[in-house]
Amino acid sequence: MSRIAYVNGRYLPHRHASVHVEDRGYQFADGVYEVCEVLNGHLVDERRHLDRLERSLRELFIPTPMSRIALANVLAEVVRRNGVRDGLVYLQITRGVARRDHAFPPAGTKPAVVVTARRSDRKGQEALAAKGVAVITVPENRWPRVDIKSTSLLPNVLAKQQAKEAGAREAWFVDGAGFVTEGASTNAWIVTGGKTIVTRPAESGILRGITRTVVFEVAAALGYTVEERPFTVAEALAADEAFITAATTVVMPVVRIDGHAVGDGKPGPVATTLRLKFHDFSEIF
Ligand code: PLP
Repeated sequence: MSRIAYVNGRYLPHRHASVHVEDRGYQFADGVYEVCEVLNGHLVDERRHLDRLERSLRELFIPTPMSRIALANVLAEVVRRNGVRDGLVYLQITRGVARRDHAFPPAGTKPAVVVTARRSDRKGQEALAAKGVAVITVPENRWPRVDIKSTSLLPNVLAKQQAKEAGAREAWFVDGAGFVTEGASTNAWIVTGGKTIVTRPAESGILRGITRTVVFEVAAALGYTVEERPFTVAEALAADEAFITAATTVVMPVVRIDGHAVGDGKPGPVATTLRLKFHDFSEIF
């Protein structure tokens, strides 16, 4: 079955799905995006993802291209047309197509909308979670507005490639004061004192992950203490456990940081339990 993408009002096979050469997303990375998990054919935490999308659009003064209901219908339709039961749906909105000029295009320029979906290898993900993943650390070099889910991801791309070349799955950015901000495409967490989970406050230096928000609820229900505070790499190395969260990975145990084992070098009970219980707390309709 050929994959189908939604591009500016049309559902097209991928080989015909293309955008204009003067799309501002292409020329300036002038756009925003969301990635939503799909489980049993349903979007996970769609409401929260669309809330965040609307915020990203507002922060960048990109007009809303269509109503929320219409957008939700497109997302559902792309999932359906691609026969995705378990996977991901990707949504991108750019400032649209206009003659190249850094300043905003004329009022009335329509934002460009692209939606794709793909299946995920659920067994592979579970196998990975059972083993845990390695991360490396890299200096933070992103702009301060990482709270906006923008398609401008060059530092993230370079960090992820560096991780890959080091045999790791993720790169954690470390700010000038030595604190971990977040991963290139995930939020970063540690577990200390057995039942306390620590993650950086979302007020600065990170994207407010939807998975992160839901993990707070799971943690509270399970009786874990959550501390929103920055942590250093040294603290992470001395922690009982570490893990990362994102719609793409849910809760993924981290077992190595820069080649050093975290805890006993195996996925810990807290991360494993949070992963197991996560979908009991996410919104799936
Ligand atoms: N931080 C960054 C930089 C990300 O790119 C992502 C997801 O893509 C996250 C955190 C996790 O966000 P979410 O849980 O909403 O997927």
